Amino acid sequence: MNEHLIWTDVGYGNSSAIDLGGRVFVIDSMNNWELATEWRSDIEEHFNCPVSGLILTHHHGDHTFGNQVFSDVSIISSLEIRQITIDFEKEFWIKQTPEDLDEWEEGGYGVKNLQLTHSNVCFENKLYIHGERTLELIQTNGHTDGSTYLLEPETKTLIAGDLVFNKEFPYGGDETCNIVLWQKAIESLIALKPEIVISGHGPVAFIKDLEEINDFFLKSIDFIRNKLNEGLTSEEINEDPRFPEYYSQDRVERKKVTIERWVEFFREEKK
Ligand SMILES: [Zn+2]
Repeated sequence: MNEHLIWTDVGYGNSSAIDLGGRVFVIDSMNNWELATEWRSDIEEHFNCPVSGLILTHHHGDHTFGNQVFSDVSIISSLEIRQITIDFEKEFWIKQTPEDLDEWEEGGYGVKNLQLTHSNVCFENKLYIHGERTLELIQTNGHTDGSTYLLEPETKTLIAGDLVFNKEFPYGGDETCNIVLWQKAIESLIALKPEIVISGHGPVAFIKDLEEINDFFLKSIDFIRNKLNEGLTSEEINEDPRFPEYYSQDRVERKKVTIERWVEFFREEKK
C-alpha cells in the first residue's frame, strides 16, 4: 500500500522519503551528513529516480545536520526555520570550541566537516507541492516555532516531524516550544484521520497513538496550570510523582528539561 513512502530510524530520529509520482522528496536530513549521504543513495535506488528536494519539519540538528547532502536541490522549509537556523549558526555554532564539537560527536551528531546548510525555498503558513499527487506542508508551530507537518491527502499519509513523539516522552525544551499550540496541532492531526503517521521519533503511529499523546498533553497542561495556581515551583512540579505519565522511564533528563520549559511557558502566559 505504501510503496510511495519509505522511512528509516538510522540516525537519531526518523527521516522519510515520498514519491509524488516521478518527484521524490526527502523529509528531514538526520543528525549526521555521512549517514544522510547513504540514505540519499538508498532513496534514489529505491525509487529509481533522483531526489527533487529536501523538506524540513523543523530546525533541530537531529533533523537538519545532513542538509549539506542536498545542497544541489531545493531545501524547503517555513520562513521561521530558515531564520532560526541562520541565527543558530551566527550566534551559537561559530562559538563552539573543539571540546564542544567532541561532545556533539559523542552524542551521535556528525560535526566533522559539517557545513550548516539553510533552506533556500521558504513559505509562510502553508505550501502545496504538486506531482501526480499533492503534498501539503502545514506550519503549526508548537514543538518549535516553524514546526510543520506534511500530508499527502490521497493516501492519507502524514509525516509529523517532532509534533509526534510516539511511545517516548516528547522533547519540549526548545525556547520557542509552545505546549498549547503543540496540543492543538496534535488535535488537528487526529482530525485528518491519517492512515499512517511517520513520527519524528519512535515507531510509525496510528490514530489511537495520536489520541494517547493528545490525552497526555491535555492532562499535562491541566496539571501545570493547577499546580502553578496552587503556588508550586517549577522544581516541585517536576518532582511531583502525579505528573501525567507518558513513556518517561528511559527519558528522565528529557522529561526534566521539557517540564521546566512548559512551566516557564505558563508563567510567561500569566504575566
Ligand atoms: Zn525536535
